Amino acid sequence: QPLDGLIASLAVDIPDFPVPGVVFRDLTPVFADGPAFRRMVEGLAGPQTADPRAAAVAHTDEGGPRDPGFDVVVGVEARGFLLAAAVALHAGVGVVPVRKAGKLPRERVSADYALEYGTATVEMHTDSLWRGQRVLLVDDVLATGGTLGAAIALIEELGAVVTAVSVVIELAELGGRQQIAPHAVHALWTT
Ligand code: IMP
Repeated sequence: QPLDGLIASLAVDIPDFPVPGVVFRDLTPVFADGPAFRRMVEGLAGPQTADPRAAAVAHTDEGGPRDPGFDVVVGVEARGFLLAAAVALHAGVGVVPVRKAGKLPRERVSADYALEYGTATVEMHTDSLWRGQRVLLVDDVLATGGTLGAAIALIEELGAVVTAVSVVIELAELGGRQQIAPHAVHALWTT
């Protein structure tokens, strides 16, 4: 079964959540399905990690470590954490959180943004990325692009480079892809 069809068959649409007029796509049943979760994680990690042996212990034919195309995975609180940690383990790299305001204890950078519903602030530790570090940014849903746009602003403020952005679902009519441009978005299911 194609991955987009598998995700579509397991995701559940909830009308008027969390506020009237919004149709919320609940992905928790996709996360709970073992084979679907594995395929989602592999898809988010991208083609360079398609080989299941492509963890840090894996090697190319030349004998060197395989390069997944990024040095670290950044995940957005909270559902992005479930995905980013698994993607990082699959690719053999580390994982760094983008958190809601007030959660990180040390020196941090902050970005405010407008949500599909409401407003919010996200933060990262100032020393969580190094200059030039290649980042794969992961979240569950791309809606208006406000969240990922704020995450990209933080990553770039720290001097790191967003080399790929992966999401499970892109809600195309909300224009998130245009909001994130020129960064390309890899969506497992565009709807
Ligand atoms: P955006 O900032 O408008 O792109 O909204 C994306 C953020 O809101 C992501 O972190 C999602 O977790 C969350 N979100 C927005 N719409 C949905 C939805 O329909 N289902 C699940 N999460 C959503």
